[in-house]
This record gives sequence, C-alpha cells and structure tokens, in this order.
Amino acid sequence: MWKDNIRRVVPYTPGEQPARTDILKLNTNENPYPPSPRVEEVLKGFDAKMLRRYPDPEAKELVEALAKRFCLEPEQIFVGVGSDDVLAMAFLTFFNGKEPILFPDVTYSFYEVWASLFGIPYRCPALDGHFQIRPQDYLTANGGIVFPNPNAPTGAALPLAEVEKIVAGNPDSVVIVDEAYVDFGAQSAMGLLDRYENLLVVQTFSKSRSLAGMRIGFAAGSKELIGYLNDAKFSFNSYTMNRLTIACGKASVEDEAYFSETTKRIADTRERMKQELFQLGFSFPDSRANFLFVTHDIVPARELFEALKQAGIYVRYFPKPRIDNYLRITVGTQEETDRLTAFLKKYLKDRRV
Ligand code: PMP
Repeated sequence: MWKDNIRRVVPYTPGEQPARTDILKLNTNENPYPPSPRVEEVLKGFDAKMLRRYPDPEAKELVEALAKRFCLEPEQIFVGVGSDDVLAMAFLTFFNGKEPILFPDVTYSFYEVWASLFGIPYRCPALDGHFQIRPQDYLTANGGIVFPNPNAPTGAALPLAEVEKIVAGNPDSVVIVDEAYVDFGAQSAMGLLDRYENLLVVQTFSKSRSLAGMRIGFAAGSKELIGYLNDAKFSFNSYTMNRLTIACGKASVEDEAYFSETTKRIADTRERMKQELFQLGFSFPDSRANFLFVTHDIVPARELFEALKQAGIYVRYFPKPRIDNYLRITVGTQEETDRLTAFLKKYLKDRRV
C-alpha cells in the first residue's frame, strides 16, 4: 500500500560526468578556464575551524557583492545552490495558479520536471522553424512564464525588446528569465527590473564564472518577489549556502576583469568554431551561449555522437522530438575546439561526405 502514497516523478537526466580525465568534455557547458585566482586565494586561506559554526543563513556577504555588481538593493537578490536550486524554489513559490505556466517546447528539460514534481499545469508553445521563441505566443492567459535567454539547448537569444514585450504583456504573471548563458553575448533583462515588479532574472556562477563545482546561482527581482522566495526557502532549508561557497562566490563576483577576459575569450572561440563547423557542412542557430547546437547536412547526429564518444570527445545528444538530429557542443579552449574540428574533418573525409 505504501507504494500508492509515493510522489513519483521522471527525473531530469544530467550530462555524463566521466571519471576518466583524458576525455575532451564538451557535454555540460562547463567553462574551460579555471575560476578567478581570487577564488583560489580564498580556498588556500580558509580556516577549517570555522566550519563548526553554521553559515550565515542570509549569505549576506555574497548577496551584498551581487547587489553592488548589478546596482540593486541587497533585498533584491536571492542566492541558492546553483540556479537549479533557485529555479526550483521559484517554481514552488510563484507558480501556484490554476492556468498553465508557459515555456518553449524545446528548452531546458528541467522545467518540465519541476512542473511535474510540484503539480503545476504547463503548456509548451512551439519555437518557430529557426528555433526562435515567438513572443506573441506568450501573450495569452497563463499561470506564469519561464524561458532561458539565450535558450538552451539551441543557443538562440531573444533581443531585449522582445523579452520586454513578454514581461510587459503579462503584468498578472511572474515572468522568469533564466540567464544561465547570458554573459557570453546576449542582452540581460537586469536593466528592466526597476520597471517590472513581476520579473525575476536568474543567473548562475556555473558557466561564465567557472564555478559549476561550487554550486552557486542567484535571482534578482523586486523586493516583494525576493521576499516571497526567501519565505519559501526559510520554510525548506535555512542554510543552503555553506561558508566556503559564500566566500568563494564573493571573491568571484569582485573580479570583474577576469570575468570579462574569460567570457570574451570563449565568445571569440565560439565565433571561430561557427565558421569552421559551417565549412564542414553543419548548420546551427546563431548561438550567443557557450555552446553550439548543430546538425549536419548528411551525417545523422546519433552517428556523430557515437563516433565522437569513441574518440574520447563527449558532446550532448537529446533523443527527443524535433531535436534528435542535433548535437549540443560546448565551446572549450581554442585548442580543444581545434581537436574537435580536426576529428570531425577527418571523420567526414574518411566517410567520403
Ligand atoms: N538553466 C539552464 C538553461 C541550464 O542549461 C542550466 C545548466 N544545466 C541551469 C539553468 C542550471 O545550472 P546550475 O544549477 O549549475 O546553475
């Protein structure tokens, strides 16, 4: 009988994290460069004796550093254990209506999992033929809206004016813009926050700040929205951010120069990667993220996925409707990208494509 009372859910499948270190790992959009040297200094100087005490439940040091960086009040920032934690808490807090929430049919697959877990009804407007979000699809009755910008796994970005159309057209819904990849060249919606109290912008330290292993994400919004998020968090787990994480996060946010340099380097490599893959017969949406979502004119994606894996190059393949002939490939260092393109060139030549 106990089985009848279980909350069942089909979980999200994270990308593979191989134990082998000789793999060229381009499957989970991690940053190929190390975190800011200031993070290393924090780790070296950390006093382990402090760990006997609970961390600050409000993670003030990190919240204040983020508020300063984005010219917001500390009461407008919420932090969590990666943006997955922040997004899950936002779904739980803001999506509690009867109308379905809206997110694109091709998008971050965790949205569907959270909606199922929390019993939130949802509907998925289709991206257009170029994998673009159509803002007009979101100007209809709904219980809330969430989309990534740039979108994942497509990499395509919506211009800020289009994002604003969605936010302004839905004054009765909370609109969450998931900006996990925004720092690689898209326009952030942070600048809209002073005009729209229904907007929540979510970002992460996992990609542009090279701290996927540390687990830090945050949301920025009106004081009212952030207040409700904190109420939910403090009803769940007060101490989400540990002492080391808070200190490393603060150090990372304060190193703007390193952040600008590494994100620019990745964007430059991405642009070269676009040219090389185009010449090899690939096509893809114009990515503003740290990955490309590619399909080949002749060779099926699954075949390429297997061949790359055999060669020790891991990329991401989603066997799902509409996207099962695509590969999502993370932008690595220039050397890593050269290794990828050299393999593809040889593979396609040997296959006489
Ligand atoms: N949003 C999107 C669109 C993502 O692709 C990811 C990474 N899987 C996340 C959020 C979550 O990232 P993290 O929890 O590492 O911040």
